[in-house]
Amino acid sequence: MVELMNFNGFLKFTDVKWEWLRRIIRPLLIRIPWLRRKVQLFLWRMRARPFYRQRIQGISKLLDDCNARRRKNGGPKNIILIVVDCLRKSNLSLYGHYRETTPFLESLAGRAAVFDNTLTACPWTYPSVASILTGLYPHNHGGVLTTDPCRFGQEAPNKVSRNVLALPEVLTGLGFDCHIFSSVTVAAWAGMDWFKNIYIYRQRAQQQFKELNRCLEKNKKKDNFIYFHLGDLHVPLDVPDDYRESFGEIADIPRLNYWQFEKDADREAPDFKRYKENRCKLYDCALRSVDAQIAGLFGYLEKLRLLDSSLVILTADHGEEFWEHTETERKLFYDPRGFSGISHGHNLFQEIINVPLLCTGPGIASGRYTHNTSLVDIVPTILDVCGIDHRLKLDGRNLFDNSNERALVSEAVAYGYEKKAVVRKNWKLIHSEGDGVSLLFDLYRDPKEKHDLAKINPEKIQELKSHLPKAEVKGETLEIDRAMKKQLQDLGYM
Ligand SMILES: [Zn+2]
Repeated sequence: MVELMNFNGFLKFTDVKWEWLRRIIRPLLIRIPWLRRKVQLFLWRMRARPFYRQRIQGISKLLDDCNARRRKNGGPKNIILIVVDCLRKSNLSLYGHYRETTPFLESLAGRAAVFDNTLTACPWTYPSVASILTGLYPHNHGGVLTTDPCRFGQEAPNKVSRNVLALPEVLTGLGFDCHIFSSVTVAAWAGMDWFKNIYIYRQRAQQQFKELNRCLEKNKKKDNFIYFHLGDLHVPLDVPDDYRESFGEIADIPRLNYWQFEKDADREAPDFKRYKENRCKLYDCALRSVDAQIAGLFGYLEKLRLLDSSLVILTADHGEEFWEHTETERKLFYDPRGFSGISHGHNLFQEIINVPLLCTGPGIASGRYTHNTSLVDIVPTILDVCGIDHRLKLDGRNLFDNSNERALVSEAVAYGYEKKAVVRKNWKLIHSEGDGVSLLFDLYRDPKEKHDLAKINPEKIQELKSHLPKAEVKGETLEIDRAMKKQLQDLGYM
């Protein structure tokens, strides 16, 4: 799993005058992975640095504006926020999956807080990461695609509005060292401007965790916030040999690590059944390997004597669809690619927006929590656990607060007409103005969302619609260069 082209952004500066340099450097970069990596990291840091410097210079004023103060020392020394891209909740054995995909997380559950009903604020990476790091819904942070219908890959999303103060900025201002690790570049675009230390490179969990361990050891004496985004479950799936047959033999089928049957899945066709079975098995093998790497991190924290002082949060930016709603999507929703039933970003069914969430460390009461929570709750929870008082206007609230049942929102698709989901108690609305569709589900009785109750319960539709956002914040323009476009292609977006 290697990205060869990310240095193109650098090479384009050399153009004609420096053609001789390009001729020397390019083959070197292709042949020498460590040099390629250094150049790529250098380029990412160059790209993020001007904005970061500008913001950090004014951070005291921004913190004064929202009255952010660290009330006490003695909160966690390290906050490690692990986000596994495309991790659907129902495939974790922690949540009852029939394959033992997450034995380590199961063993951790006894001393962790495990949330059973968490929604992502958005069904695709870029706005979702922005929501995780700001505690705001996409309509309030502005880091979204702006056309309707949307086609990510053909157009770039906006940057998060400059009026928004992100968690890493607050923590930097209050004395934390902030680091972002990401093997998914789209995730990094959302957050890299907010971090002093940037490690962005397409690689497997195993290598990425090695870097994290090095970082933890090097910064052992500091307070650290680490955003750690894993791409192992995102296409192209690249499962280490040791785990490739964790659940039996995987058939040799073309495009098993990407997708087939994106447009024309026929549930009864033997070819489709065989592909689906092997594709899902490969995904589970990748998850099994990620679980093992997370176990390694906890071992390392223990070795460094940092386990008791580290807050670790594990979640996903969104889930993944494996043909659960192919027919409904084909029939009711427009997709500019013509896809239905696969991947993420295009719709708001539970397999895409219901994500795992597990927290462990100082200030966390272990147990199983069934009330509805959202990824926008992560920021207020971290601020509370760290003893930080503030007057930030956030959409989320402390994860452990279940005092009343809020309406939660998920929105801002990457493909097709805008869709918004509202979930309150057991009821869920999926509404698309452009498609002219409103679907209503009772998640207690129908967790797989097979029976639309819109026609027999119009009052509930109206009630849930009253929670739809009334206004949208507009973010700033994000410029995408040639190197970024190539990364989109590698991730299967173009
Ligand atoms: Zn993602």
